[in-house]
Amino acid sequence: ADAAMVTARRTKSGFAVFDPAMEADTEGTVSLLSQLRRAVAEEQLVLFFQPKANFGSNRCDSVEVLVRWQHPDRGMIPPDQFIPFAEHTGFIREITKWVVDRSVAQVASWRRAGLYIGVSINVSARDLVYEDLPSFVGDTLLRHGLDAGWITLEVTESAVMDDPKRANEALKRLAKLGIRLSVDDFGTGYSSLAQLKRMPVQEMKIDKSFVLELPTNANDSVIVRSTINMAHSMGLEVVAEGIEDAQTWSLLQGWGCDIGQGYFLSRPLPAPQLEAWLRSRPLQMLATA
Ligand code: C2E
Ligand code: MG
Ligand code: MG
Repeated sequence: ADAAMVTARRTKSGFAVFDPAMEADTEGTVSLLSQLRRAVAEEQLVLFFQPKANFGSNRCDSVEVLVRWQHPDRGMIPPDQFIPFAEHTGFIREITKWVVDRSVAQVASWRRAGLYIGVSINVSARDLVYEDLPSFVGDTLLRHGLDAGWITLEVTESAVMDDPKRANEALKRLAKLGIRLSVDDFGTGYSSLAQLKRMPVQEMKIDKSFVLELPTNANDSVIVRSTINMAHSMGLEVVAEGIEDAQTWSLLQGWGCDIGQGYFLSRPLPAPQLEAWLRSRPLQMLATA
């Protein structure tokens, strides 16, 4: 059944009848797919959280949720090694549901413990087009008794470009629920400003490839400065990711960037370490940056 499903998804035909010839080229896929399925069922996926801090107030009000796979034999597997596969096979929808549910539960539990922290969750193109994401997110918030204002969804531009009409409809329904929306990896895809203008987003994340070498790369600094200005004139908040040192932090702060994220602040952390980080260091550390 999995082999037929993978073939149906790959050919976008909507259905496929199993044929033994399918097995040869889908065998690896099916085995990885069944491992991923087990990963979700047996709680092998784990959430890491990376702080984002406000350049103006130095406060850390939110974190980005980044999934990893704690594989029983292969150790910790980063998302780049299984998310694209999950997107390709359509299994991403199961992962997204799991991530959304656990992230909302985590924010609700932090609130009960007196930690007021919002989360940004990554969603894929497939989530926007095929799954009824808006009602799933709405139901999840209700189930955990959490206000939509604590959630930001990060969507890449290319996710929207796949099927702009359906994707924008999903985004509008999410926005209606009161969820913040962010354009992730800005500047890397086939950027279309016309498309961006139509998206109901409040935030733009400048891709880390423009930020990693900011102090030494004159082209990057021109791109980043003008992107900040353009985003601001469109009424968007700007997040820079991939900030690895104090110099990059200061540059972005000087250019009026709103929010910063990167190893300079902290690497992505498991929940208990993040809690310790939040309670101890952020303000002092940034005050001296
Ligand atoms: P992203 O959403 O653009 O996430 C930022 C990535 O940059 C993360 O990699 C993060 O660890 C890394 N990063 C943060 N600060 C720095 C820095 O200062 N320097 C450098 N070199 N890297 C930094 P990660 O965790 O490996 O995630 C990679 C990508 O996988 C994410 O890119 C996102 O597209 C995807 N992803 C992660 N979790 C999920 C998820 O739950 N669902 C979906 N659909 N995609 C996810
Ligand atoms: Mg992201
Ligand atoms: Mg990004």
